[in-house]
Amino acid sequence: MTQPDNDVRPSNFIRNIIDADLASGKHSAVQTRFPPEPNGYLHIGHAKSICLNFGIAKDYQGLCNLRFDDTNPEKEDVEYVESIKQDVQWLGFQWHGDIHYSSDYFELLYGYAVELINKGLAYVDELTPEQIREYRGTLTQAGKPSPYRDRSPQENLALFEKMRAGEFKEGTICLRAKIDMASSFMVMRDPVLYRVKFAHHHQTGDKWCIYPMYDFTHCISDALEGITHSLCTLEFQDNRRLYDWVLENISIECQPRQYEFSRLNLEYTVMSKRKLNQLVTDKLVDGWNDPRMPTISGLRRRGYTPASIREFCQRIGVTKQENTIEMGSLESCVRDDLNVNAPRAMAVLDPVKVVLENYPADKVEVLNVANHPSDESMGSREVPFSREVWIEREDFREEANKKFKRLVLGKKVRLRGAYVLTAERVDKDDNGDVTTIYCSVDLDSLGVDPADGVKPKGVIHWVSASAGLEAEFRLYDRLFTVENPGAAEEFETVLNPDSLVVKRGFVEASLKNAEAEQAFQFERVGYFCADSVDSRSDALVFNRTVGLRDTWAKING
Ligand code: ATP
Ligand code: MG
Repeated sequence: MTQPDNDVRPSNFIRNIIDADLASGKHSAVQTRFPPEPNGYLHIGHAKSICLNFGIAKDYQGLCNLRFDDTNPEKEDVEYVESIKQDVQWLGFQWHGDIHYSSDYFELLYGYAVELINKGLAYVDELTPEQIREYRGTLTQAGKPSPYRDRSPQENLALFEKMRAGEFKEGTICLRAKIDMASSFMVMRDPVLYRVKFAHHHQTGDKWCIYPMYDFTHCISDALEGITHSLCTLEFQDNRRLYDWVLENISIECQPRQYEFSRLNLEYTVMSKRKLNQLVTDKLVDGWNDPRMPTISGLRRRGYTPASIREFCQRIGVTKQENTIEMGSLESCVRDDLNVNAPRAMAVLDPVKVVLENYPADKVEVLNVANHPSDESMGSREVPFSREVWIEREDFREEANKKFKRLVLGKKVRLRGAYVLTAERVDKDDNGDVTTIYCSVDLDSLGVDPADGVKPKGVIHWVSASAGLEAEFRLYDRLFTVENPGAAEEFETVLNPDSLVVKRGFVEASLKNAEAEQAFQFERVGYFCADSVDSRSDALVFNRTVGLRDTWAKING
């Protein structure tokens, strides 16, 4: 798996623009920013933006700021601020200098608003939000001017000061830019710059009761921080006119440029924070870091590695084309990473007991088993072997055809890293289900073929019954049953009822102190990691990160 340091990154249209800006001398250095709104946890779509912004800064020896775009105090929270910082760092990136907040600039922003008022380019409007919408017109019809549009700068200034002083109710007054009510870009029809909100702010407390809008705040924040390339998603394409208009009409040195790229959409999941928030508040998932969530913290808890997420962002690239990526693409990135980097271990998820009748009852043999089939540097571990072992229920059949290369009555199979055994007879319960399989073991077959020359057809995994540890396994699947759940009216109707299946079984003793999030390949079963929230050494819980193969393509293809 590639690390950010030695990546050979394919170029993209944004990098081409930067190359040209550096070549022409327009810029001598590059500065980007990642500007999350702290109103939810970051998701895999944000990872695309993070890898782009921080990746460019890294590759061009530039700088990338982390700026919280915090102009909607009611929806924001410091819990989100903290989780976002943690997720960015976990992904392997470090912002330049201190963390920035748009709210750091509230006083400066107020000053720029006053400048626009003085220039006759902004006015205080007393239309209601509904009236403003009505007056704005439509794509085919020009808007009409507000009756308050032509107030004098002095009058506007006095009213704006009163707005700040808390003398108006919410929704009764706002500050608007005076641009063009007939513009073909709706955002240019006198957009609102400030509104009244008597809301406590997580950074500025109760200092303000007027808050600037995104379009006014973002461009100025970029300019104040010396951002050269302001990268955002396509829905802001039209807003670029306003971005430029604001900066052209205030006294500010720096003129950053905004460039838009398409957002990441993933099949079988939702990506908007509003919808993710709804899943959490309606308790349809176990919090923002539920391993089924497309959040960074959910993927992390599920067992995704930072390298696999960076690799995914690299593979999907950056374009202006709207598209939806298959979940299989994300899964194959983590599978490729873990195939190389995850040590192997054995776990039995649906156990049935095997008794080796000719193996001494009191004997425990410690076998040495390689941690990786092709990477010797990963060393080996000790795995105890005993007379009773657990195997996977589906690895045994009383009768089977030749295709079934596992344990069958009267036939041989090898236990991974241990002996060859032959199934002799079974015990069953009242339902006819096998409870115990009695076998004979070829005591001379450890690490060598059986002396009688009859080779076993297959190899199955196992866990010693006396030395193994009980464990819970959480098998995750897609949270939704439809490709585009965001389009559904109600989540309940499209939730996958089998998105979490819990199994109880056993793992080998070496996993007693498995660190949370440390990945393992459970041989023949899949990639797993200990759950960071619920797993303890005396009550192990493992999350399935991903299966060994892409079964999804097979089932649904
Ligand atoms: P959401 O719709 O999830 O609420 P947002 O755009 O409102 O997303 P922000 O916190 O404002 O969320 O996003 C921070 C940055 O991440 C922005 O620059 C935004 O364009 C980018 N971003 C958000 N979602 C995606 C996505 N799906 N793909 C790529 N970039 C994204
Ligand atoms: Mg946003």
